[in-house]
Amino acid sequence: MDFTYTDDQKMLKEAARRFLAGACPNVEWYLEMDKDEKGFTQELWKGMAELGWMGILFPEEYGGIGGSMLDMVTLMEEMGYAALPGPYFSTVILGGCTILAAGSEAQKQEFLPKIAEGSLRVTLALSEPATTQFNPALITVKAKAEGEAWVINGIKLFVPDANVSDWMVVAARTAGKDTDRDGISLFLVETKAPGVGITLLKTVAGDKQCEVVFDKVKVPKTALLGELGKGFAAIERTLQIAAVAKCAEMLGGSNKVMEMAVAYAKERVQFGKPIGSFQAVQHLCANMKMAIEQSIYITYKAAWMIDQGMPEARKFAAVAKAWVSEAYKKVALIGHQIFGGTGYIVEHAMPIYSRRAKAGEYAFGSPNYHREIVAQELGL
Ligand SMILES: Cc1cc2nc3c(=O)[nH]c(=O)nc-3n(C[C@H](O)[C@H](O)[C@H](O)COP(=O)(O)OP(=O)(O)OC[C@H]3O[C@@H](n4cnc5c(N)ncnc54)[C@H](O)[C@@H]3O)c2cc1C
Repeated sequence: MDFTYTDDQKMLKEAARRFLAGACPNVEWYLEMDKDEKGFTQELWKGMAELGWMGILFPEEYGGIGGSMLDMVTLMEEMGYAALPGPYFSTVILGGCTILAAGSEAQKQEFLPKIAEGSLRVTLALSEPATTQFNPALITVKAKAEGEAWVINGIKLFVPDANVSDWMVVAARTAGKDTDRDGISLFLVETKAPGVGITLLKTVAGDKQCEVVFDKVKVPKTALLGELGKGFAAIERTLQIAAVAKCAEMLGGSNKVMEMAVAYAKERVQFGKPIGSFQAVQHLCANMKMAIEQSIYITYKAAWMIDQGMPEARKFAAVAKAWVSEAYKKVALIGHQIFGGTGYIVEHAMPIYSRRAKAGEYAFGSPNYHREIVAQELGL
């Protein structure tokens, strides 16, 4: 594959770098977003919608710009570089892509244009308290048919941005045993529906994740998204896109850490010389660069495979998620090493990135979860 950016991707990247540098200005602002219950501003959301980012992956008929996964990773990398907070990932990738994959024509027409224009936020309620290790098929939240309605009961955990979303795509079991892939159905549920209880959790990266309790939540028959009992295929597709998009975000974060650390190594003087003149620090910087270069190739290759609709995309998305998660962690650790004591203070940018490296490692499956997928794909 060709790794050079198209002219459109170059423009997207430059515009994103410019906009996000202004929109996410400094550490004080991040710390404010960390503390804020919503974790983003309307101004930021509106700005991103005006740039067309909300509909990047949606076809034009649904108000999108018909972009590719390669466009998406180009943008995501910039979002990671800027450490963008807020519900972009949950709305566009988790909610939006699941509706695009599973929705009826009417559902797609109803939801996607509103997401694309920035007037609607939709997240995905997937993980549950029983999930000690990431397993998207472990669904115990139940949906039962009652006359002309579905009634949903159970608890979801780590639902991203449920507190600021209008709707959720909820994965619920309508048949089968707890870990069966068959028998999982998807439902569109309003976050303000009676019986929905949302509690914000405290997280390592300051992102907004919630526990969502469904207590006899009644939704109409039309709330079913896709075929009854066949929701897992759409979830798998969304998770593949999410894993690769997360890799791009982590890659952008790694780039920022390396840039900051290299600049510091050139300016920080110890024993009468900049620390970057010592071989030990030079090698650390080289190790960062090597980890990042490898991450670029595997992330963009996985994105390209998704665009091509290649079955191998499953394996490569997993290779990418396992690899990049560990690479980002390594880069963040080296970043701290180079900054020494200064990199540990809260008012420094370094902890923002290393906290995100830790959160990103576990998002949509740890490296070991993805190794399992690679092993399966190798026929083991
Ligand atoms: C949580 C915490 C608690 C602390 N508590 C105390 C305390 O109680 N008392 C106290 O005195 N200090 C304390 N410190 C400070 C600590 O001692 C310093 O952080 C440490 O000495 C490193 O100095 P520095 O941060 O200025 O890093 P720098 O000296 O600026 O070093 C930055 C990087 O360059 C590398 N480097 C520096 N010189 C060379 C060289 N010649 N060759 C190769 N690499 C080099 C370092 O290994 C490091 O990776 C604390 C620090 C932290 C993070």
